[in-house]
Amino acid sequence: MNAEIIAVGSELLLGQITNTNAQFISSQLSELGINVYYHTVVGDNPQRLEEAIRIAEKRADCIIFSGGLGPTKDDLTKETIARHLGVELKFDSVALSYIEDFFASRGRQMTENNRKQALVLEGCDVLANHHGMAPGMLLERGKHMYILLPGPPKELHPMFQFEAKPRLAKKMTQGAMIVSHVLRFYGIGEAELEVRVQHILEAQSNPTVAPLATDGEVTLRITAKADNEAEAWSLIEAKKAEILAIVGEYCYGVDDDSLASKAVEMLLENGLTIAAAESLTAGLFQSELAEIPGVGQALVGGLVTYNEQVKMEQLGVSAETLAHHSVVSSECAAEMAFKVREKFGTDIGVGLTGAAGPEAHGNEPPGTIWIGLSIGQEPPITYRLQLSGSRNTNRLRAVKFTFSYLMRQLVEKGYRKI
Ligand code: ATP
Ligand code: MG
Repeated sequence: MNAEIIAVGSELLLGQITNTNAQFISSQLSELGINVYYHTVVGDNPQRLEEAIRIAEKRADCIIFSGGLGPTKDDLTKETIARHLGVELKFDSVALSYIEDFFASRGRQMTENNRKQALVLEGCDVLANHHGMAPGMLLERGKHMYILLPGPPKELHPMFQFEAKPRLAKKMTQGAMIVSHVLRFYGIGEAELEVRVQHILEAQSNPTVAPLATDGEVTLRITAKADNEAEAWSLIEAKKAEILAIVGEYCYGVDDDSLASKAVEMLLENGLTIAAAESLTAGLFQSELAEIPGVGQALVGGLVTYNEQVKMEQLGVSAETLAHHSVVSSECAAEMAFKVREKFGTDIGVGLTGAAGPEAHGNEPPGTIWIGLSIGQEPPITYRLQLSGSRNTNRLRAVKFTFSYLMRQLVEKGYRKI
């Protein structure tokens, strides 16, 4: 099956909003193995919308619409499709009572155009909207499938995931089972990963293996199709073993794991506590840790020591270190890590300092980051990271790298791996 996404809305053409719905739907469809060949954007104009539908029907099996299901005059997606297909619009009783209840519960008068939102294409499968009033629709006509979704992303995302996607998956597999599993890599670039597993990427059919890179991380999604779930998993496990035999050292987790969640798991598993002194990241390292439930057993606290004065007065970094080596230095990162560990009485201290950019810091180019780690009684160790992104990308990558550096060091020191 191949699909085309038609996003309806003059706001999109005027540059007032970005077509994130098309991006979201495309990424969801790729998980189902449905190819998207075209994204179309058309304004709130019935003639041009109908023209776009005619063109899409020539080149796509499944046409997915976003937007124009609301109550206002410019919302005309379903009216246009109804006219084009010669299908009636009729009230859906479930959607109508949902809208009536909505107004009644708020003591507000319901206007006629709000009722209009409960009109659906005759013969369609109604897609429930649990986050708004306008229901979605799925209609099969001849060779084509038409899926109509509301414009607001907070309505469209759950409707696609929980209402449309399972129906599409069923259609795609006709009884078979599709399972997918994501391998997460860090410390290896997308290009290198692809080269190293190229033969696997090229030879694939079932399971398929698809790479994706975001924020310094790379993932490989393995998707298998089989008669039942157990068979699908055995196909996935075999492919996974093949991949890990080549690049396993860079694989830090799977599916919904994150570097922070794996680092926290490892700290908890080993009963370790941690504190951080942060300069350029100004609390981001601790904030990322704090997103992980259960981290309270490991994260004790920390300091944001942005300027030199605070590094000296609050943390106790020595004036000599700063005078001889500057704040962007191995010595400063090491001392920050050591001092924060002492101050908070933890097993591990982390020091993060550097030039986030865009300016250089003295002789240090933008993107120079020093990470200090003080583990137990051993002398602190440091790592110099040279990044080339924008200021905030560098700050985020510094934090991610720190998680991976920490995990590697703990493994090397013989702590239990997870
Ligand atoms: P409503 O009931 O809110 O009117 P609707 O289904 O009629 O919903 P539109 O009127 O087309 O949808 O768009 C409503 C809002 O949804 C837009 O103002 C915009 O914020 C968001 N939106 C619409 N289309 C897109 C899109 N393609 N990508 C991202 N956001 C979108
Ligand atoms: Mg609208």
